[in-house]
Amino acid sequence: MLVVMDAHATPEDIQAVCTVIEDMGLQANTMPGPTRTAIGITGNQGAIAEAARLKLMPGVRDVIRVTAPYKLVSREYREADTIIEINGVQIGGPSLVVMAGPCSIEGREQLLSTAEAVKAAGATILRGGAFKPRTSPYSFQGMGEDGLKLLAEARELTGMPVITEVMDTEQVDLVAEYADILQLGARNMQNFALLKRVGRTRRPVMLKRGLSSTVKDWLLSAEYIMAEGNQAVILCERGIRTFDDHSRGTFDLSVVPVLRELTHLPIIVDPSHATGRWQSILPMSRAGIASGADGLMIEVHPNPAEAWSDGEQSLLPERFVELMEQVERIADAMDRPIQGRTKAAAI
Ligand code: PEP
Ligand code: MN
Repeated sequence: MLVVMDAHATPEDIQAVCTVIEDMGLQANTMPGPTRTAIGITGNQGAIAEAARLKLMPGVRDVIRVTAPYKLVSREYREADTIIEINGVQIGGPSLVVMAGPCSIEGREQLLSTAEAVKAAGATILRGGAFKPRTSPYSFQGMGEDGLKLLAEARELTGMPVITEVMDTEQVDLVAEYADILQLGARNMQNFALLKRVGRTRRPVMLKRGLSSTVKDWLLSAEYIMAEGNQAVILCERGIRTFDDHSRGTFDLSVVPVLRELTHLPIIVDPSHATGRWQSILPMSRAGIASGADGLMIEVHPNPAEAWSDGEQSLLPERFVELMEQVERIADAMDRPIQGRTKAAAI
């Protein structure tokens, strides 16, 4: 249920509605909008019997039933796109964002040189895994806190906000200390304890789609985070498992327009994990932007042949430069400049 307040509703009117909702034993989620405030009601199992009473309160314009199983995530709840701003970089705004960096942080030189290279090409967020979810327990598991320290150093050096994965509830405080965005990996999309835990931080969270998750599963996972009070959620399509094995996964770009209708949250697409092959990254990045995504996540490594994880899908820095040039042409056609490229051109 959503209570839409009148444009002239006073703060007292809004507070009075929240109090009535809370007296019903439900939660009131206030969402200020550009012209009017909406109050989302969560915690109810079915229809709210006293809804009619809310409709009669001063300052209330309308009471709308939200039919989707996810509430806070839905467009019905919030019509305007959510824009997340981190240190001057916008995610989900009119311009596009590119997150790039190595799959795993392997050392100082590797991370810092990649960070400089992707920044010069127009990336505005640096990625790098310190805790790695590997299919095999014998594969490299990540540098842990030493990796996070290097990430912080790279941020210091380049000014780029950093995104890194958190795999476990026990790591959340540590990772949140260093990271600007917490990444929740595909394998953890339905780790409900972790979703709730990151929902209680005030760090933006990028939620990757699970390998075999429907859009409904995915949005309900995002709802877990938002229901804990964290409104800064980003969705990331990273390929799903289908019957075909020509690539690592099937890059489901047809999900982008569907998400646009269902949710106000920003949408990032990750052709690196979706396809698993560097040769496919450039064309599928173009396709991702053409599909209407708000940005890309791309793996880049100074020496992919020697990478400790995901080398076969990592781009050499010079190939990343070419990708950015090509993607910019699609971005221009979409009327959505790439943030790092506009800044570079303005200097
Ligand atoms: C990653 O971004 O390095 C990663 C492990 O992603 P995913 O969870 O999509 O596999
Ligand atoms: Mn990877």
